[in-house]
Amino acid sequence: MWPYIFQKRLSANKIISRLGIHYVCPWCVVSTTSEEPDGHWSHTPLRQSEPRYICEGCAQDIYGTCNWENFYDNPYHDLVEEAAKKEGLTVLEFRVICLLHQIEIYETDPEWGIPEYLPLKEEILNLITSLKNQ
Ligand SMILES: [Zn+2]
Repeated sequence: MWPYIFQKRLSANKIISRLGIHYVCPWCVVSTTSEEPDGHWSHTPLRQSEPRYICEGCAQDIYGTCNWENFYDNPYHDLVEEAAKKEGLTVLEFRVICLLHQIEIYETDPEWGIPEYLPLKEEILNLITSLKNQ
């Protein structure tokens, strides 16, 4: 899996207390807060409607895949295409939002703002530029 920048995960209990109900990941429709109480969840701007939470598996597969330069060679690219379709976005729009979100996390979470991660941030910025020129 290609490295990607991710936010601090939220526990299932946090999701339940925020929403007041158990929650099913809208993308895989497999992960739930009831079956995986220790599961970790992410809040993502890729979701075009509330609630904007996705499971850790989807976050990993989809955020990592969006970072692949040769996106269509990635075995998970169909997952990204399905999620984009569910959100009513083109794959290109979806990838750009995903990459911009990673830059936002990098800029706001001090844990990422160390020299070790700078090359990853630069790769993502280059990818955003090349996608916007498509
Ligand atoms: Zn999921």
